[in-house]
Amino acid sequence: MRKTCDSIEAWVRPNIRRLKPYSSARNEFSGVASVWLDANESPFNTPYNRYPDPLQSALKQRLAGQRGVAPEQIFLGVGSDEAIDLLYRIFCQPGKHNAVSIAPTYGMYRVCAEINDVAYREVTLNADFSLPVEAILQAADADSRLLFLCSPNNPTGNAFPAADIERLINGFDGIVVVDEAYIDFSSQPSWLGRLCEFPNLVVLQTFSKAWGSAGVRLGMAFALPLIIGYFNKVKYPYNIGEPVQRYALAMLDRADEVRRWVADTLAVRSRFVEQLAALPSVRQVYPSDANFVLVRVDEAELLYDRLVAEGIVVRNRSTVTLCGNCLRITIGTADEMNVLLEAMRRYL
Ligand code: PMP
Repeated sequence: MRKTCDSIEAWVRPNIRRLKPYSSARNEFSGVASVWLDANESPFNTPYNRYPDPLQSALKQRLAGQRGVAPEQIFLGVGSDEAIDLLYRIFCQPGKHNAVSIAPTYGMYRVCAEINDVAYREVTLNADFSLPVEAILQAADADSRLLFLCSPNNPTGNAFPAADIERLINGFDGIVVVDEAYIDFSSQPSWLGRLCEFPNLVVLQTFSKAWGSAGVRLGMAFALPLIIGYFNKVKYPYNIGEPVQRYALAMLDRADEVRRWVADTLAVRSRFVEQLAALPSVRQVYPSDANFVLVRVDEAELLYDRLVAEGIVVRNRSTVTLCGNCLRITIGTADEMNVLLEAMRRYL
């Protein structure tokens, strides 16, 4: 069914639709001035004394050009985690609405649902980690407001085929969130190029992975200006600090270097996967479209503990749905992967 702006407005919580957001000093006056006495800031300690641009205009302008979207289609958050939480707060009435997602997937969709007292309906992936499209649509009802799809998926590493995601965007009567945290490592194209086709689509991306900037906490949500307007209404007035905005602008100038990092990671990944698969106790290395691989071994708990004893930390996913005896291993430098492989050869 074709969604319209009216259907999206209808999914917004009534209190959020009615909300008159806080209007900060920097919202009310944004022209040129030389004497700033409006925000109770200190006149000392330039430039940190001033509140940052609440809507991060310069950064959004640059990002918009780079991603081929309008600045009004961008929300910037304290990591994409902030965008996930705000989606619940915009669209889900606590105790009434529900969110649908897949299992296994990124853990914050569930945690944010629980924080917001929103029921969370998990649909287990098929055994080959493909999307059970019909089961997902059947799990939804009239109170389903959000559907989270992580592609490439964490922790399985696979990207879902565009045709499956498209069926879900068209078939789900609510907001479909495609989390593209790992898209730069994928052979699949981003959904950003098709944002305008689907009013109910929200795409999440982050500076934390390919952009090498997990420490600064900067994530992005891309959507219809109508949806971004609600993000802006609900967010903290000055959610992104001025040093972070300045840093991100400088980072965008380094796009070529980031592309080289990604190419390097992909080369290390393919060599690592080959060597890993040759180890006797490795049962399966799952294909990856991300900067990590999921690997099934004979005794994941034991191996995990032995690696930790050597100062090597991977992620033990063996208690997660469909991931018995699985470790999730991030792709580091070639040297780091060699250290890990040598340790595994000693123990396997
Ligand atoms: N989405 C996925 C799929 C992730 O794996 C992660 C981080 N592990 C995030 C979002 C959160 O990213 P950020 O650092 O932007 O909050």
